[in-house]
Amino acid sequence: MQAQYDGDQQQSYRNAGRVLGRSALVTIAFLSVMIALVISGFVYISHQEAKVEEVRQTTRTLRVARQAVMETGAAVADLMIRHDSEPNLLKYAQTLSRLNTFADDSFPETALRGSDEVPTPAILTALKAGWADVVSAIAAKQPEIAQSLYGARGIERNTTILTRAILADLTRREALEASFNRNIERATSVVLGLQVLTGAFCILAFVGASRSSARDARARDLAVANANASREQVSRLFGMTEMLQSALDHSDANAVLRATAAELIPDLGGALYVFNNSRDRLALSTTWGREDLEALPDAIGLQQCWALKRGKPHTNRPGSHHLCCEHHIVGDHVLEIPMIARGEILGLLQLYCSGAAAGPRLEAAASVGAALADAMSLALSNIALRDKLRSQALRDPLTGLYNRRYMEDALERVVRLAERERTEVSVIMIDLDHFKRLNDQYGHAKGDAVLRDSAAAIINQLRETDIACRYGGEELIVVLPNCGLDMAAAKAERIRASIEALSEPTGAQVSASLGVACVPTTSTSGRDLLANSDAALYRAKQEGRNRVVRAPSQKKGARAEQSGAASSLAAE
Ligand code: GH3
Ligand code: MG
Ligand code: MG
Repeated sequence: MQAQYDGDQQQSYRNAGRVLGRSALVTIAFLSVMIALVISGFVYISHQEAKVEEVRQTTRTLRVARQAVMETGAAVADLMIRHDSEPNLLKYAQTLSRLNTFADDSFPETALRGSDEVPTPAILTALKAGWADVVSAIAAKQPEIAQSLYGARGIERNTTILTRAILADLTRREALEASFNRNIERATSVVLGLQVLTGAFCILAFVGASRSSARDARARDLAVANANASREQVSRLFGMTEMLQSALDHSDANAVLRATAAELIPDLGGALYVFNNSRDRLALSTTWGREDLEALPDAIGLQQCWALKRGKPHTNRPGSHHLCCEHHIVGDHVLEIPMIARGEILGLLQLYCSGAAAGPRLEAAASVGAALADAMSLALSNIALRDKLRSQALRDPLTGLYNRRYMEDALERVVRLAERERTEVSVIMIDLDHFKRLNDQYGHAKGDAVLRDSAAAIINQLRETDIACRYGGEELIVVLPNCGLDMAAAKAERIRASIEALSEPTGAQVSASLGVACVPTTSTSGRDLLANSDAALYRAKQEGRNRVVRAPSQKKGARAEQSGAASSLAAE
């Protein structure tokens, strides 16, 4: 029982462990994916921000370069208007030197001249050369030449082309920056969403884990409680088995069963049926737990009970279409467990329950019921075995009558009781006539059969308290407690007649001679009774056999005298 319980428990722990392991794996996998996505989002955002920064940087450079182009152009134009103005020359030199700090790749690669794409450095170089010539002419105080050079070198046009190209590039870069910024915004939203999702998932996982751990804790507590209850049951059942081993008879075993059932299943009533000697019916042996069970039928037939017919536990349910035993009392749920030991059915254990939850209650009690039935079966089997051994030690195997040793003890006991209670005891000694001749004529087996039949014929004439035994060979003795000489002689006559009546079915001449003695009428002690009945038997043989002879009555005085002598002998 304990091993099965532990096995179930371990299996359920293993299952719980597998489920827990699977859900933990799913949680970890999901969180890993989410974290990887969030990290990727951050990497992407920082990449986009780097690009934005790069675009801003180039935009800033472009703006400053454009400013430098325009300021240099403006300084040249001022020189042309104010000719040799010293500050203007200085301004031109400053703006040009600032413009020269920009490398070629600070400007857009190409610029549109009409519909042609022209490399920007070429335009810049041409522009710078034009400016230099114009400024040289101004410095040489040749304003007309400077004026014509300004136009001839296409300074105005080149400046416009260059600044337009820069402006177009600026516009393109601003659009690029705006697109990077949009990407950053989108990525930030996605990363935020992922973070919220991960957070929500973590909260759910935490709630689920704490719920399942609470469930696990409850299941563990329940398992521990069940294990303790189960251990308690097992120890009580062990106690029961130990007690049953010292049970000498059915009433001892029944007392142990009632006490154990009251402890283990106090809310259930029960009854025990045990096979009678002829094994054709089950007799009610004991009931417990409910007073109304005492009114159960005294016996049930083997054919009335499904549990016994199938050799398996069977439940009788009220109002169900399920098969019900014939002996079932309507209104109760009854679990019936056949009791089997050494392959033999010994009886039936019944557990009774009523009410709405009776079915499940009996199902729950089934294993305890089975353990009770097992322990009880073994006890009944042991008691039967012990009875058989005892009977073998006390009885003659051929006739089934008590043996001589038992008879001698019983006779002493009965005579002492009779003396104390001032009642009478008689003895009939029986010897089959010419039995040697019968054996010789019909064989020993026939002789045995006649002996057996004679024993049965004697038993048929006796009361339950009478004791019949085989004294030796074909001599039999009957001890009749509480029976006077006349009544004993009458009984002896009936025995004689019934033995003689065996002649017809046997086909052989069967008869017996009987001697009758009685305490206190003819004898004074057990030994005296045997001697006197034997003497009377001898006389019956002498007088022609097949008859009853009484021992002679003692005279009253002699009887009293002998009785006193016998008592003092017994006292010794
Ligand atoms: P009677 O008593 O009438 O004087 O004659 P008897 O032949 O019965 O006398 P006896 O006591 O001499 O013989 C007893 C015989 O009973 C001897 C034995 O063969 C037989 N006998 C004793 N025990 C058994 C037994 O268990 N089975 C059988 N078949 N015969 C037995
Ligand atoms: Mg004899
Ligand atoms: Mg004889």
